[in-house]
Amino acid sequence: MSEAHAASESAFATAQSQLRSVAGMLGLDAGLTEVLAHPKRELTVNFPVRMDNGATRVFTGYRVQHNEARGPVKGGIRYSPMVSLDEVRALAMWMTWKCAVVNLPYGGAKGGVIVDTKALSESELERMTRRYAAEISIVIGPNRDIPAPDLGTDGRIMAWIMDTYSMQQGHSEPGVVTGKPIEIGGSNGRVEATGRGALFITQEACRARGMALEGASVAVQGFGNVGGVASRLLKQAGAKVVAVSDSIGGVYSEQGLDVEALYAHRQAGGILNQHPLKHSDITNAELLELPVDILIPAAIEGQITEQNAPKIRAGMIIEAANGPTTSGGDKILAERDIYVVPDILANAGGVVVSYFEWVQDLQSYFWEEAEVNQRMQKIMTRAFAEVSSMAQERKLRLREAAYIVALQRVVQAIKLRGIYP
Ligand code: NAD
Repeated sequence: MSEAHAASESAFATAQSQLRSVAGMLGLDAGLTEVLAHPKRELTVNFPVRMDNGATRVFTGYRVQHNEARGPVKGGIRYSPMVSLDEVRALAMWMTWKCAVVNLPYGGAKGGVIVDTKALSESELERMTRRYAAEISIVIGPNRDIPAPDLGTDGRIMAWIMDTYSMQQGHSEPGVVTGKPIEIGGSNGRVEATGRGALFITQEACRARGMALEGASVAVQGFGNVGGVASRLLKQAGAKVVAVSDSIGGVYSEQGLDVEALYAHRQAGGILNQHPLKHSDITNAELLELPVDILIPAAIEGQITEQNAPKIRAGMIIEAANGPTTSGGDKILAERDIYVVPDILANAGGVVVSYFEWVQDLQSYFWEEAEVNQRMQKIMTRAFAEVSSMAQERKLRLREAAYIVALQRVVQAIKLRGIYP
């Protein structure tokens, strides 16, 4: 957003200040702004879990529902020692904007448990997940709040949540969570959805800039679910992927990498820069500053900062990760006129296909992967066009334009519904 935030500012304070800045641009009523500045509902649960050694341990978890004016709320569950109520509040608000910018009939939510999953056995993780699911079952449900995976959680954990909720209801409720294994109501194409959505957005961004994706040089930070899929699909689309990295470091080749070989090497448990191919090593810091046409941060938050933003040489940045650019870094990118597609638009492919999963579960009728991908492309392309035309109309960057599109939709829903009673 336009104003810089102190490094120490909390995530929720940042989210609130982003909201207030866009509300100011729209001349939004002060009361409505306050409604949106606070989550509608926050649940904190402290719950006991029997550990393998017979001891009882108390865990703390959260589920925050930001706004449900546009429909049931949706958002992931994060397992990490760093989870805090403040962070979950911010993530819930960002989910409201992400769902609205791609025009899904959802509001935003987020959940989390303060836990280091690496310190738990499989059975402890299952008992903890099931007890957390039971504790939050008073606020979740297929028509109310539909969780999904996030950092530290996966399809297996979604299966346990779905089963726990279903046992309480007395019948199967696959629509209570998304990101489930396909065998129990997951969607074809969900695993690849965020990376594929990032490809569709990159194609649209290239079209908007009058630039060919074919032959364009691309650097991708992060080679996990999002970055790995995005790199492979970009290469298949004719781009020259010159660098990829993971948390340890990356690899670079000016002629373009053999992405498939690297992906297979990584899937087999290999380390990127210990590959048998003749690519040169590169650090994450160097990758971000490469002279490429397109830079795709797809790893973690806070990678483009006030320190490295002046040195970034990419002409276009597609934010596949959540929050990869700090406010200070973004201000510099804006001054340097670097074209940035913001995270709430660039990585929304995941939530779009989660929505498809939920629709398929409610109808008990499942689609082929080609249909999932085609429908997702339609939604992502339309959202990009709407955000681009808002940017042109108001002479704004895509980040502010995306927030305006999202905020206008949420505000419209609140106005139509009115304030109860
Ligand atoms: P992942 O765990 O599968 O992969 C993360 C990748 O980032 C790994 O390659 C890891 O080695 C790398 N990484 C971790 N720390 C790093 C560091 N300090 N420097 C460089 N690389 C580092 O996670 P993912 O699902 O691919 O998510 C990546 C980003 O995309 C996150 O910001 C996530 O919130 C966001 N996102 C994911 C989805 C989804 O559907 N998976 C949806 C929307 C947004």
